[in-house]
Amino acid sequence: MAFEGLTTRLQNVFSKLRGKGKVSDEDVAEAMREVRLALLEADVNFKVVKEFISKVKEKAVGKEVMESFTPGMVIIDIVNRELTELMGGTQSKLAKATKPPTVIMMVGLQGAGKTTTSGKLARMLQKQNHRPLLVAGDIYRPAAIKQLQVLGEQIKVPVFSMGDQTSPVEIARQALQEAKTNNNDYVIIDTAGRLHIDEALMDELRQIHELTNPDEVLLVVDAMTGQDAVNVAENFNNQLQLTGVVLTKLDGDTRGGAALSVKAVTGCPIKFATLGEKLDALEVFHPERMASRILG
Ligand code: GDP
Repeated sequence: MAFEGLTTRLQNVFSKLRGKGKVSDEDVAEAMREVRLALLEADVNFKVVKEFISKVKEKAVGKEVMESFTPGMVIIDIVNRELTELMGGTQSKLAKATKPPTVIMMVGLQGAGKTTTSGKLARMLQKQNHRPLLVAGDIYRPAAIKQLQVLGEQIKVPVFSMGDQTSPVEIARQALQEAKTNNNDYVIIDTAGRLHIDEALMDELRQIHELTNPDEVLLVVDAMTGQDAVNVAENFNNQLQLTGVVLTKLDGDTRGGAALSVKAVTGCPIKFATLGEKLDALEVFHPERMASRILG
């Protein structure tokens, strides 16, 4: 399960602190050394770790902690709050266009989970009584169009497709028309991914962006790839002004580095997480709940 190693490590650190009636500066320093190592081992970006530890230390040496009857608990609480902050503080909601449809552009590398996440998001919106339209804009990966059509059929959400011979920019343009005609209030555009970021991909994404003026540009990243996911996010964000991140495959045994670093490194909030292949395995990302889960 995700974060397992980190949770165990942190629990060990905190169990030593929890029992203490008094905590010395040395106890705090020792605990912070161990938290630092635990985060690094969980593949959290080293700059993020450094900043995190210095913030926690700053708060943990204060009077409040030393004078408390349960100083260990106060420190755990500080770590919990800082972990929450690190992942964005509060839940970051999906944007909504003042004039429908709300356009959501899904971007990311091939295999990250873009197509399935598009289906999951459509399902979530449909459950909230919206009328989403899925757009098959990944014309390069064989089977991506078919995959989206199958997903759409399963959840009874229309899929706009023009095959693989029309440019994705044109597909996006006509899809917006279709959404207006059919009163779809959300348009989810599945775009092409590559195995690596390249100029042609970015150029096409920029063109779709310019044409559709999306309310959300969601980067789908595979949490299992750790710091690579963070690098991908940084790269996409520099070129495309992301509005949010979807972390996929949190059901796997990811060490957690991506979840804990991506907001701090890119400034982009994590809006959703996926925890499985099933269509209802999409969750709104709550930083505070995730922090509590990590602390076990
Ligand atoms: P795309 O190339 O980015 O469109 O990726 P796909 O949507 O086709 O997903 C790639 C693979 O990852 C598929 O086999 C998905 O079923 C799988 N996948 C996507 N999200 C998750 C998830 O949250 N958990 C698990 N276990 N598998 C996932």
